[in-house]
Amino acid sequence: MSKTKYIFVTGGVASSLGKGIISASIAKLLKARGFSVTIQKLDPYINIDPGTLNPYEHGECFVTEDGAETDLDLGHYERFSNVPTSQANNITTGIIYQSVINKERKGEYLGETVQVIPHITDEIKYRIMLLAHKGNYDFVVTEIGGTVGDIESLPYIEAVRQMRWELGKNCVVVHLTLVPYLGAAGELKTKPTQHSVKTLLESGVQPDIIVCRTERHISEGMKNKIALFCNVSPTAVIECIDAESIYDVPLLMHAENLDGEILKKVRILKSQPPDLADWEKFLFKLKNPKKEITIGLVGKYVELKDAYKSINESFIHAGAFNECKVNLRLIHSESIDKSNVVEKLKGLNGLLVAPGFGHRGIEGKICAIKYARENNLPFFGICLGMQCAVIEFGRNVLKLKGANSTEFDKNTPYPVIDMMEVQKKISGLGGTMRLGAYPCKLKKTSRLFDIYKTDNISERHRHRYEFNNEFQDIYQKGGLVPVGLNEKDNLIEIVELKGHPWFIGVQFHPEFKSTVANPHPLFISFVKAAIEYARKQKKSKGLKR
Ligand code: GLN
Repeated sequence: MSKTKYIFVTGGVASSLGKGIISASIAKLLKARGFSVTIQKLDPYINIDPGTLNPYEHGECFVTEDGAETDLDLGHYERFSNVPTSQANNITTGIIYQSVINKERKGEYLGETVQVIPHITDEIKYRIMLLAHKGNYDFVVTEIGGTVGDIESLPYIEAVRQMRWELGKNCVVVHLTLVPYLGAAGELKTKPTQHSVKTLLESGVQPDIIVCRTERHISEGMKNKIALFCNVSPTAVIECIDAESIYDVPLLMHAENLDGEILKKVRILKSQPPDLADWEKFLFKLKNPKKEITIGLVGKYVELKDAYKSINESFIHAGAFNECKVNLRLIHSESIDKSNVVEKLKGLNGLLVAPGFGHRGIEGKICAIKYARENNLPFFGICLGMQCAVIEFGRNVLKLKGANSTEFDKNTPYPVIDMMEVQKKISGLGGTMRLGAYPCKLKKTSRLFDIYKTDNISERHRHRYEFNNEFQDIYQKGGLVPVGLNEKDNLIEIVELKGHPWFIGVQFHPEFKSTVANPHPLFISFVKAAIEYARKQKKSKGLKR
């Protein structure tokens, strides 16, 4: 294909309608038709990236291979399309303004008055096109964050207007709206959609396709009405009904011919139908599990649906792989103590201790890990979860009284987790952690080697503290064995408990690399161990009776 085509996805009426999932589904369908595709998210907030945002503000922060801290929608993009994203795939107003202001300071605007139009909009357009040129893609899907009518998204909508004019048929605007059902009237209502399209028109953008999020089926008559009021053909009004799983959405969108409509708009008249056989296989396994397990996820943001998004999704992938339904029981780390740990972890087949920052909830995590270690309960510690396992083992097995991470106790007599040397000189918080993909060498005698089936792995990171090498020998002798090493910087990346059926702590974040096409081997293996634990529990209960 000669020229890159641009698909813009805007949203109206309300936030949280699932623009990210629609964008990811479009990418999935086009990829399944054999096109090369990338997806980008433009976020209207002024932060440079979500790295410094509290999870309460914006859910999980997703980390890319190149170490960008990005919006969690990029996780969906990767999980659906199986294509890694990068810093260029997530642009914020902060990045745009910072770049324009830097250019102004360097005198690059040659004395011009620097304005929103054209300088800010040119920078936005440049960032969109740059991505296309970098990867030589057939399609770039660009999701515009926020809702049309928001003051802060205006420059982005203006950039779309200009690009639409400049690109002509190589550009498609997909507008996602809500068609609410009013219980009292017993009817679906199209008026909010009409108003939302009018708002878009006020900025000079006519959508080509309208995707209507709805909880009930939209009749042909209603589609015709939306088409008439919004200047699109009835076939370009796409129903997007609430789905059981986000992974149903690509198939639902294909059934509604969203991909076909997009191709029609960019004048691609011949294309192979999407090959969705593997996706359908995955969905079948997901919906027809042969067994069921419960994993406890201990963290401090358990009341937030999106705080551990990638971990949740990784369990969905690994569960489907094992034909097993994985129930996640979220347990607040601050609610666990010695007196109730047995009660809190009752009925679990595995325990995952989540990543995190700050001392809140640490003692609860340590308490839960002690239980898992002593009771052969499969345990998976990710980043902070791994660090807590090291602290627990230090205090309770190696008898290093008061062992801690210097993140929580600067004066601990046993700093078993300590700040990395390179971090000690850094003062700013944004983008200053050890971020992104680093290689790790596995011990060939370890369980990890069996799981990965290679001794050279690469995983993504987001941390400042590390296993303190001064304690390596006593941990090794004590049985919590360092089995993964970053050779270049001599950093311990993985610990594994000898003699336990499955007790692994990793300094990195495997959850960022799990996709539908490639479920992560560590999650697959952990789920298997939990299934085995459940089977043994059942057997021993049977014997007791
Ligand atoms: N707070 C820990 C560190 O900075 C762990 C970080 C994490 O869990 N992502 O090292």
